[in-house]
Amino acid sequence: MKLVLASQNKHKAMEMQAILGDGITLVTLDEVGCGDLEIIEDGETFEENAIKKAVTVMEKTGLPSVADDSGLCVDALSGAPGVYTARFAGEGASDDENIEKLLSELDGVSEENRTARFVSVIALAVPNKEPITYRGEVNGRILFEKHGENGFGYDPVFYLPDFDASMAEVSAEVKNSISHRFNALKLFKDEIEQGKIL
Ligand code: IMP
Repeated sequence: MKLVLASQNKHKAMEMQAILGDGITLVTLDEVGCGDLEIIEDGETFEENAIKKAVTVMEKTGLPSVADDSGLCVDALSGAPGVYTARFAGEGASDDENIEKLLSELDGVSEENRTARFVSVIALAVPNKEPITYRGEVNGRILFEKHGENGFGYDPVFYLPDFDASMAEVSAEVKNSISHRFNALKLFKDEIEQGKIL
């Protein structure tokens, strides 16, 4: 089965394909001639943004489309950066700039108060059907400095207590078996395999 992935983020695409396995092939926006499609993420929730991305691509291509909207929610920051995770340090900010901003906002916050979660919402949009969403989360803590080189985004400062390591220190296989994106995609994949959708 083929689904168009409404994302230009290559890391995300790689992770999603690895988690979904061989039964579902994610087709890129480039491959369907929509490589320059820009979607403004102006929703107030991950669900709104994920649906907007999946529906926009489905309407443009006429094909079943899937999107992930994800981010980091930090308890000491009342759930921020949330839907602003990608642009926490400003529009077009790099991963390093976003991490720097996060660490400075948490300056003086103790280890036990640095609890946080990554959230992923997967939306599926199919022509002539209501879009469906699936939410996955993973809990951890924000470190005081970066550790590890794997993954992307905020992975180097996201500590996983069960592994005593950051998300950037564990292997791709481990990350893809416990991550927020895995937890959301697992719900999605189970329903597809049970024939409940599509
Ligand atoms: P989106 O592409 O609009 O969903 O924005 C996602 C934001 O959350 C980006 O800043 C990512 O770096 C961050 N993010 C999402 N998933 C992960 C992850 O698995 N690890 C690290 N950062 C992530």
